[in-house]
Amino acid sequence: MNKKIVLRFKATLSEQPIIYRLVKDYDLMVNILKADINPRREGSMVMELTGETENFENGVKYLEEVGVVVELLSQTVIKNHELCTDCGACTVICPVGALFLERPSMEVTFDNVKCVVCGLCVQYCPMKAMEVKF
Ligand code: SF4
Ligand code: SF4
Repeated sequence: MNKKIVLRFKATLSEQPIIYRLVKDYDLMVNILKADINPRREGSMVMELTGETENFENGVKYLEEVGVVVELLSQTVIKNHELCTDCGACTVICPVGALFLERPSMEVTFDNVKCVVCGLCVQYCPMKAMEVKF
């Protein structure tokens, strides 16, 4: 199985080897999509976990036991092709390259797999072509 999750943790946990434990003890493949970690502040991380269902469940249980708040990434972003004018503004702000210009057509393409649902394109699109769906 493969799932995207959001982790939120207190400053005291930011130096804990939680990723190492997920890989070593729960045999999960971890793909960090976005991380905001500061030793003196609360941190957050968006990651994709791949592995056996039981290992995923045990890994999440471990995270919760050490004090990490775990949420499944259940939102998704869609691009309304009828509204999009291919202006390219969103390709500059997307932090993970999920929106990019196709060449030579110069059309803006949206890669839903890369998207970490940060919502920036929804905020910045002048045509309101990007939308969060729950
Ligand atoms: S900012 Fe909006 S209109 Fe411009 S390319 Fe992106 S989705 Fe299309
Ligand atoms: S929500 Fe928009 S800006 Fe954020 S990762 Fe997804 S496509 Fe990129």
